[in-house]
Amino acid sequence: MSKIIGNVKCLMGGNAQVTQAKRKGSHFMLRCDCCGFDQSTGKQKQQYIWDNAKWVDGIPPAPVNVDVNKGSETVKPAEKQPKAAADFDPTEPPKTVEDKPKKKGGVIVAVAGVAALLGLGVALARA
Ligand SMILES: [Zn+2]
Repeated sequence: MSKIIGNVKCLMGGNAQVTQAKRKGSHFMLRCDCCGFDQSTGKQKQQYIWDNAKWVDGIPPAPVNVDVNKGSETVKPAEKQPKAAADFDPTEPPKTVEDKPKKKGGVIVAVAGVAALLGLGVALARA
């Protein structure tokens, strides 16, 4: 019998006891009522145990195929969000307006707009 070093929620949602192999690799093993004894050494499972187990007597030596610092990298997805939001600018006018080859019309509209602003300014100044 190996010493129980922690507990973790198993794949079936039950409480699994975590033991650790003393031989090379230091892989975790699980034992629970619903799944029985599980000593598979797959990286995904080892990483899951490492990230989620509640250790009974302090943090054990990490299995060889576990990324010890993985937990601290969870900041990355949050950093991506502002970038994605920046790609969409609601204040930017639709590009189809600029693509139309009606430069004259655009200039006239612009001049008319400036004139309107000037007129408004004059009107305000007179008021
Ligand atoms: Zn189970």
